[in-house]
Amino acid sequence: MKNIAVIGAGTMGNGIAHTFAQFGYNVQLIDISEAALSKGIATITKNLDRMVAKEKISTTDKENTLANITTYTSIKKGVQYASLVVEAATENKELKLKIFKELDEGCPDDTILASNTSSISITEIASVTNRQNMVIGMHFMNPVPIMKLVEIIRGYNTSDEVMKFTIDLTKEINKTPVEVNDYPGFVANRILMPMINESIETLYNGVAGVSEIDEVMKLGMAHPMGPLQLADFIGLDVCLSILNVLYEGFKNPKYAPCPLLVNMVNAGKFGVKSGEGFYDYSENRKAEKVAKMFV
Ligand code: NAD
Repeated sequence: MKNIAVIGAGTMGNGIAHTFAQFGYNVQLIDISEAALSKGIATITKNLDRMVAKEKISTTDKENTLANITTYTSIKKGVQYASLVVEAATENKELKLKIFKELDEGCPDDTILASNTSSISITEIASVTNRQNMVIGMHFMNPVPIMKLVEIIRGYNTSDEVMKFTIDLTKEINKTPVEVNDYPGFVANRILMPMINESIETLYNGVAGVSEIDEVMKLGMAHPMGPLQLADFIGLDVCLSILNVLYEGFKNPKYAPCPLLVNMVNAGKFGVKSGEGFYDYSENRKAEKVAKMFV
């Protein structure tokens, strides 16, 4: 297997492209937005530069990694030779169903289709294709080049062969696969998002301020980053989408997103990527601090 197409060049897509390219795969990085592709390549370059500065990789490794990535704005052109597609577009069910229909039509018959979705049903995504046995969840963690875990989600019809292939590939790129079944939020976000939502509720109820809540969880629970800062880093829009999937999927009010989170997303405060969330990232001060923690 040589060609891996990655759909979406945002927070996760550029990290997934970076990782596969660093391990010698030809990566076709696809986004509808030229600006997102340029930003994605700039982020990969910056992260590789940091790795060179820390002597984790050589300058030649950096050049080879970048040379392994080609960008496309057309899914059809980008996926025509792909053995595997990893979809990492915006967390929106209707969008993902549309993309997977297009992938099923445009990819060779033996291409495996993976989604990096944080919460949307792999079984439902697979249902719009004619290859339900070859659709799987590959849930990378942020930031992808650093984090070891990949949740491997078995859809209702995912075959054992596709599970084994994906688990072996995950190990090959030096990550640790953990197999889980297909229910809303899988394991990672079913546990993480209620904690983030409760932190926002705690702020909303005036129990403590942003930095106090984060300090309690960092110093008291040994979390490397407070939950509010982590939410900024994930993207508040992404957090809201995942909570809505949990809320609707389990029909349980305990997953209802905090009104403060809803308000912040409606106001365009998405966290690091928009420049403001629970923290102010203007002048790059806090953003710089966050980035340094990970590379
Ligand atoms: P993002 O908003 O940073 O990037 C999404 C990208 O998808 C954008 O560049 C957008 O232009 C592109 N896109 C939208 N429609 C497209 C289309 N039709 N074709 C091609 N590209 C398209 O989002 P993200 O945070 O990278 O999240 C991507 C996926 O990864 C989501 O499913 C999310 O739930 C999941 N995820 C996110 C995190 C996280 O920490 N942010 C962690 C794990 C998984």
